[in-house]
Amino acid sequence: MFNHCDFCEQFSCEIETTNLIICFAHQESALHHERYERLSLFRISSAGVLESVKQAICSLLFTVLQNQLLALCRSVEPFMIRRVMGEVDVKFGIRQALAKIDEAFAKRSETIKAPKPLLVAVSKTKPVDLILDGYSIGQRDFGENYVQELIEKAHDAKILEHCKDIQWHFIGHLQSNKINKIVNLPNLYMIETVHNAKLAENLNKAWEKVKADKPDSSKLNVLIQINTSGEDEKNGTNPAEAVNLYRFVTEKCPNLNCHGVMTIGRFGHDYSTGPNPDFIELMKCHADICSTFEKDPEEVQVSMGMSDDFVQAIEMGSTIVRVGSSIFGARAKKTEA
Ligand SMILES: *Cc1c(COP(=O)(O)O)cnc(C)c1O
Repeated sequence: MFNHCDFCEQFSCEIETTNLIICFAHQESALHHERYERLSLFRISSAGVLESVKQAICSLLFTVLQNQLLALCRSVEPFMIRRVMGEVDVKFGIRQALAKIDEAFAKRSETIKAPKPLLVAVSKTKPVDLILDGYSIGQRDFGENYVQELIEKAHDAKILEHCKDIQWHFIGHLQSNKINKIVNLPNLYMIETVHNAKLAENLNKAWEKVKADKPDSSKLNVLIQINTSGEDEKNGTNPAEAVNLYRFVTEKCPNLNCHGVMTIGRFGHDYSTGPNPDFIELMKCHADICSTFEKDPEEVQVSMGMSDDFVQAIEMGSTIVRVGSSIFGARAKKTEA
């Protein structure tokens, strides 16, 4: 029952309930982290009291605390909330992300004409059971970025049985030798990472062969990936080429339905220095595409924003956010075989 405080490493105590562990910060730790002061409302002052808390009281407390936490999560960074939770609660994470999306969408300037953002829950490296949890409360869009892992999950017996309307988004680097595998996947919804004409052409050819077996969509949904940060290790076409790649896909790839643009961008932007330059760059590509092809801006999707910055991305015009760790918890590092 005793532990070190997640925030300041000092001693603190916890109450363990069925699926939520709440850290009761000491007064000192609450002072160190004054934005969590409200958490100390729930502080239980002495260890003796805590030890004598009965299961019934625990569960009563649990309900109260859970409601309080839900209210708090609007004002506290999501990853910090995750840190006071001992276990990953995917349903909670998804509800919290959706609440933040609603809030950011409501605040977005009316000059930005864009639909309400779609939440793609990025489940890479996470077990199928957590996907089932998310699906059970209505989440339908899930993102994966390793082909092999997506193949396994999309064919998983539990997923096939319980998640009939799941929509898989592939968000990783697609090598040409994996194309045939990916186009055959059940419930593949979109490839977000078409980064050059060659890949588009190969996907177009591969879809030609399988499309007769696809009940609902005769076309494969794609986004074109833009390397807005210009980093060598990131895929994506140069922003100056975005219009050309978009033209290629829409004019030369009849089996693809190009929904818009996507970027990953440089990690760790410091928002105190101003808006994220990657988001600015991607919105420019979006504007270029809309004006060149006379498209209604609301019809061209913009996929940008991850756990740390999806709120800022939405404020700038994102229509698809890809959120992983703040829903599913931190990931162990993994490299694709
Ligand atoms: C992993 C991943 C995400 C999610 O990242 P988090 O920071 O965990 O939210 C989003 N987009 C892509 C392309 C990813 O690979």
